[in-house]
Amino acid sequence: MKITILGSGTSTGVPLLGCLCSVCKSQNPKNKRTRASVLLETGGTSILIDTSVDFRSQALRENVREIQAILYTHAHADHLLGLDDIRPLNFLHKKSIPCYGNAQTVSHIKTLFSYIFSDTQEGGGKPRISLTEIGMDPFEISRILVRPVPLWHGSLSILGYRIGGFAYLTDCSSIPEESFAMLQDLDILVLGALRQRVHPTHFSIGQAIEASQKIKAGRTWFTHLGHEIDHDVFEASLPPGVFLAYDGLKIEI
Ligand SMILES: [Zn+2]
Ligand SMILES: [Zn+2]
Ligand SMILES: [Zn+2]
Repeated sequence: MKITILGSGTSTGVPLLGCLCSVCKSQNPKNKRTRASVLLETGGTSILIDTSVDFRSQALRENVREIQAILYTHAHADHLLGLDDIRPLNFLHKKSIPCYGNAQTVSHIKTLFSYIFSDTQEGGGKPRISLTEIGMDPFEISRILVRPVPLWHGSLSILGYRIGGFAYLTDCSSIPEESFAMLQDLDILVLGALRQRVHPTHFSIGQAIEASQKIKAGRTWFTHLGHEIDHDVFEASLPPGVFLAYDGLKIEI
């Protein structure tokens, strides 16, 4: 299984527009962060988690030519608004792409992308997707078992996903006990961590370290990072086995 970090940044991206801080002005490519998303490839199947607002440039950078399914964590703009840019993959493969999300995500997709579901606009102008509402039960994509992992993002109930020994949990401010039970024996954990200070809807670095020490994955990478996190400075301060993700990072299991 190969995991590619398509984007490792928080909702604004890094650099933050107009900001003159040292991270935003940094020349280190690991401090340039597009919006959070990952691509998972296993046995000829590619699964995309979220269509970030930077999806097009991420997919061009990584040479993405086919996606079998899209898993949505939640419907915030940074995770969803690249959806229209999957159209070239529809043209190329002449088929729609199955998309999965919880009830609220599916409802927001239908509102925010209402043109996809209306009969009024024909032709190549709309993405072709088949949208499936998922609950807590595991389901299969091309015989790959996908387990939704419920998380709290402030007061919003969102989903992380576990596939084999890999789990992707972004935008979480707390992990329910029942979800910790679903995260045992992980090889790779990619976990959201925004900044040093506590935030109402995202783990701080300290909270993410605490959660990662409870989950005890083989290796853990933090993602959805803000502009207060200088890659080299912060990574040096992390416990063994915990790293900072960066755009283009590839992790193999
Ligand atoms: Zn986000
Ligand atoms: Zn900045
Ligand atoms: Zn969010």
